[in-house]
Amino acid sequence: MATTFDLISPDFLTITRNNEWHLDAFNVPNELYNVQVWDTGVIYFSPKNNASEQEQAFVFSSAIHGNETAPIEICTDIINGLVSNTLAIKHPVLFIYGNPAAINIGERFVEENLNRLFSGRHTKADPESNAALPFENKECERAAKLEEYVTRFFELHPQAERTHYDLHTAIRDSAHEKFAVYPFIHGKPWKKQQFEILRAMGVTTFLLMEKAATTFSYYSSNEHKANSFTVELGKVRPFGENDQTKFAAAKQTLINLLKGTNFDGESFDATNYQIMTVFREINKTDESFELSFADNVANFTEFKKGQELAKEKGEAIVANEDGEAIVFPNAHVAIGQRALLTVLPTDISNNLV
Ligand SMILES: [Zn+2]
Repeated sequence: MATTFDLISPDFLTITRNNEWHLDAFNVPNELYNVQVWDTGVIYFSPKNNASEQEQAFVFSSAIHGNETAPIEICTDIINGLVSNTLAIKHPVLFIYGNPAAINIGERFVEENLNRLFSGRHTKADPESNAALPFENKECERAAKLEEYVTRFFELHPQAERTHYDLHTAIRDSAHEKFAVYPFIHGKPWKKQQFEILRAMGVTTFLLMEKAATTFSYYSSNEHKANSFTVELGKVRPFGENDQTKFAAAKQTLINLLKGTNFDGESFDATNYQIMTVFREINKTDESFELSFADNVANFTEFKKGQELAKEKGEAIVANEDGEAIVFPNAHVAIGQRALLTVLPTDISNNLV
């Protein structure tokens, strides 16, 4: 009988990179876990001693942007530990390397930003018949498949509390090195326990979104009621150039969650956090759009009221408030897309659970 090592050799990342858009599903014999490869970049582990399989279920995704290597390395280490049975875990987990073809070219995406294609954005309908049109590109098809896999995973563990961490690194420096985007949860309370788990990963800055989005984390949050976050762990670097010490706490926390460590939300103390909410979303509406600050200005840099943020059609777009801070600036988006967010601190003490 083939062993794990025969089937996943030399490792699942290499297999994934060798099969950019598709891999036929197969089961992998393993002593401790039911191991199933569902597609390229998609691997499921469930402990055979499955008394806990309905308590917690985790999705850890990386490489939704192909050049964000540190999260890929973190997940690869955990997967290797599970495949080789050197790591014992209690809860089922689905790992996803989002965009293998983009990993191979060392780019954010091939044709279209995968993290703008979820919650149905991957499929356009014919305006006359309302029938689904063919996918416009492979990233659209991949987003649709990833939604199916997340759905399948949570359906396998219907009683479990659901959690999805979509792991990224950012193009730009950040005044707060690590931060997480808490997708819009439609007025429901924010969870102290999740803040504490992310703090254990080294994340104390949170950006609370106030509207629906086409991101992977909003999809799993909204569609599957998962505790979902886009987690920015540091800065983009090529494979082999990541300082592992900066990611050790994040990796260990993910492992601890799988092992069954309980995080106590009662230790939550707002003074440990920088919690921000979106103040303005600035969209690019014309080819002339340009940012008024340099490429090396960090995310969460604060501006003073009246200071210029961007320029479009010769007109200045300025900060409306003192302390308005910039996040995710990108002048190179398509017309109509978001080129910049500004954020302000917020108090959430009246809506926490
Ligand atoms: Zn990213």
